[in-house]
Amino acid sequence: MTTLLWLRDDLRTLDHEALTAAVAEVRGQDEGRGDVVALWIREEGAQDDDAGRLGPRPLGAAARWWYHRSLEALALRLEALGIPLVFARGDARRLVLEVAAGLDASVVRWSRRYAPRSRALDAQVKTLLGEAGREAHSHPGALLTEPWEVTTGAGGNYRVFTPFHRAAMDVPVGAVLPVPEALDGPSAETEQVLAALRGRGVLTDLDGLGLLDRDPEWWRDTVAEHWTPGEEAALDALDALEVALDGYGQSRDVPGDPASTSRLSPRLRSGELSPRTLWHAARHAAEQDVAAQDARAWTRQLYWREFCWSLAYHHADLETVPLRPEFGAFAYRPDEGLARAWRRGRTGLRLVDAGMRQLGETGWMHNRVRMATASLFCKNMLQPWQDGEAWFWDTLVDADEANNPVSWQWVAGSGADASPYFRIFNPETQAAKFDVDGRYVSRWVPEADEPLCGYPEPVVDLKASRQEALDAYADMKDAAGLS
Ligand code: FAD
Repeated sequence: MTTLLWLRDDLRTLDHEALTAAVAEVRGQDEGRGDVVALWIREEGAQDDDAGRLGPRPLGAAARWWYHRSLEALALRLEALGIPLVFARGDARRLVLEVAAGLDASVVRWSRRYAPRSRALDAQVKTLLGEAGREAHSHPGALLTEPWEVTTGAGGNYRVFTPFHRAAMDVPVGAVLPVPEALDGPSAETEQVLAALRGRGVLTDLDGLGLLDRDPEWWRDTVAEHWTPGEEAALDALDALEVALDGYGQSRDVPGDPASTSRLSPRLRSGELSPRTLWHAARHAAEQDVAAQDARAWTRQLYWREFCWSLAYHHADLETVPLRPEFGAFAYRPDEGLARAWRRGRTGLRLVDAGMRQLGETGWMHNRVRMATASLFCKNMLQPWQDGEAWFWDTLVDADEANNPVSWQWVAGSGADASPYFRIFNPETQAAKFDVDGRYVSRWVPEADEPLCGYPEPVVDLKASRQEALDAYADMKDAAGLS
C-alpha cells in the first residue's frame, strides 16, 4: 500500500501532521511494508467556468527562488526518512489523480490551505479522488487556529484584531509532533512506477519546474547571499530566536538593528517551520531568560498572521478587491514614472529608498519600513495600492497570500481594522524616530549625504501630497455618501 503526501506550503518534517499520519499508516500495515511518496506541484492552469482561477496565487519571483532551494533541501531530508519527493507542473486536479493512480495510492494526504480559490481546488481534488475509490485526508498545520474555530458570539468572523486575538488565544495550542522515524525506503515497484510517470512526462525534476526563471529588471543574485532556505537552516534560525525576542517590545521598530525582529517570515510562508513550533519556542524562551512581555509581544504578531488568514479565508481576491467597497471608486492617479522611482529606491525620500533597496537586494524589508514605503506609494503618490502589493508579491521572499494584501489594505485604509486614512506616515519623521542614529538609511542609501552624487530630490512634496491624498479621500467619501 502506498500513501501519497501532497506537499504545498509545508516544506518541513518537524510538526507535520499529514506526514506523521502517512508514515504511521504505512507502518501499521498487516501485510508488511508500504511506501509514502511525497509530491510537490507547481500549480498552473486550473480554471473553473464560474470562478476563474482555481488554486493558489502563482508564486512571485523571490518566493519561487525560495521554494526551489527549500524543495531541494527537503528532498534530502525526506530521502533520509525513506520518502521520495517528486515534482510535477500543471493542473493539480489532473496531476494528483494521475500520480495517485500510477502508484495505486489508497490514501492521499495534505496540509490544509485556506484561501477560497485553493479550498475550491482542494475540494474538487477530494471529490475526484473519492470517485476513483481513493481516500483523501486534509490536516491542519499552517495556522495555530483553524479559521472556523475563532468566531464572534454571533458566529461570524472578526474584522477587528483585538477581539480576534482575545478569542484566538482561548483556542488551545497542541504539542509539537516529532520528525517521524524513517521508513525502509521506496520499494523497487514504487521506483519503477515513478520512473514510468517521469517517462510519460507526468513528473519532472526540480529544474523542470522552472522556479528559477527570473525577471532581470529587478532580480539580483544578492538575495541568495542573505538567506539559506530549507528546514535545517530554519531550525538554526529558530535557535537564534531568543536573541530577537530579548527586548523585542522596544527593538522591533528599529530597522537598523539586524536582530530587532526574528526574520522568520519566509520560514512560516514556506512552512519550513510551523506556527505551533514558534508558539512553543516563544513560551520556552519566556521560561528562560527572555522577559515574558517580550515573548508575549512577539506571539501577538503570530496572531496578526492568524488574523490575516482568517480574513483571507472569508474573502477571496484580497489582492485586488478592497474590503471596504467604497475604496473601489478611490481616484488613484497611476503614474509609471513615480511607480518606477519607488520600485528602484529613487524617490529622494531616504527611509523609503532604503526600504525599497533592502527589498531589492535581500527579498525582505523591516515591518516599520514596509508601512512607510506602502504609505508613500498609495497615499502621497496616489498610486493604486494593488500595484504596490503586486510588486511586494513578486519581490518578497515571505510574500504571503494573506499577510501581504491584508497589510497593504491596512495601510491604504481600505481594509478591515485598517489604519485611519489620515494616518499618513511621514517618512522623515519615521526615520527621525526609528532610525535615530541613521544606521539603516546609511546602510542602504550611502550616497544620500554626499554632495554631487546624483541622489534625487524628493519626487513628491510631503506636505502638499498629504493634503492631496486627504482631499481624494474626502471626494471618495462624498461620492459614496459617507461624509
Ligand atoms: P517578527 O516581528 O519577528 O514577527 C514574527 C512573525 O509574526 C512574522 O514572521 C510574521 O509571520 C508574523 N507577523 C509579524 N508582523 C505581522 C503583521 N503585521 N501582519 C501579519 N503577520 C505578522 N508579512 C509576511 O509574512 N508576508 C508578507 O507578504 C507581508 N507583506 C507585508 C506588506 C506590508 C505593506 C506590510 C506593512 C507588512 C507586511 N507583512 C508581511 C507583515 C510584516 O511586515 C512581516 O511579517 C514582518 O516584517 C516579518 O519579519 P519578521 O519575521 O522578522 O517578523
